Amino acid sequence: MAFRSKRRPIPGKSPAELDAMQAAGEIVGRTLQAVKAAAKPGVSTLELDGIAEATIREAGAYPTFLGYQGFPGSICTSVNEVIVHGIPGRETILEPGDLVSVDCGATFNGWVGDSAWSFGIGEIDEDVDKLNRATEWVLHEGLQAMVPGNRLTDVSHALELATREAERRFGVDLGIVDGYGGHGIGRTMHEDPYLANEGRPGRGPLIQEGSVLAIEPMLTLGTEDSAVLEDDWTVVTLDGSYAAHWEHTVAATAEGPRILTPRK
Ligand code: MG
Ligand code: MG
Repeated sequence: MAFRSKRRPIPGKSPAELDAMQAAGEIVGRTLQAVKAAAKPGVSTLELDGIAEATIREAGAYPTFLGYQGFPGSICTSVNEVIVHGIPGRETILEPGDLVSVDCGATFNGWVGDSAWSFGIGEIDEDVDKLNRATEWVLHEGLQAMVPGNRLTDVSHALELATREAERRFGVDLGIVDGYGGHGIGRTMHEDPYLANEGRPGRGPLIQEGSVLAIEPMLTLGTEDSAVLEDDWTVVTLDGSYAAHWEHTVAATAEGPRILTPRK
């Protein structure tokens, strides 16, 4: 259709620029690992924030989240029914059975990496474990659509199909959180376009070689509906069901999707 050809493709970055983005992304990966290693019962999410900031700064990078639209932390720590944007706090003490989602951004040499993962504290309920493993699986299935020649919503559609397949594969009912999704990323964290986590395929700007998106499924054990708490940040499920969040910064290349936020 005519309007499609008028839409500019998602800007393509050179291989050298992708390498520079990956340098930022590897700092994010290392930080997520350091935070997970420290996340034990009795530890506050504020302590995790301190570990994240130190890890990022020791690498010569800057915590992208800190001060972003006034956000007070270097990471988002979203526990249980918190979906995303949880503010680290000394009152939020981790307990066995918690599901913690940690989202981190680092700016290094002018490029941004953005990635998130969720993990349990001690033993977690079987359904919560299924939710978490399913969300990780959906991310990795969905990002396979990040190839030159696809359109933006081909990734959205792939994420939706993967979510429905994950329900069968993991034996769990999943909600796709409405109104939140991924985004373009490069010199700044949030760039156009917005990437929905579901929808019809074949629409939106073209993905070309070097296009980069932050892909981030957010799934729940219940509702698709959310609310923002009075702190203007914390996004919770409306029914109190647990939520998981996994994210990678991903480039489309001729060789296939390239994860720019790798971790061991
Ligand atoms: Mg993120
Ligand atoms: Mg993001």
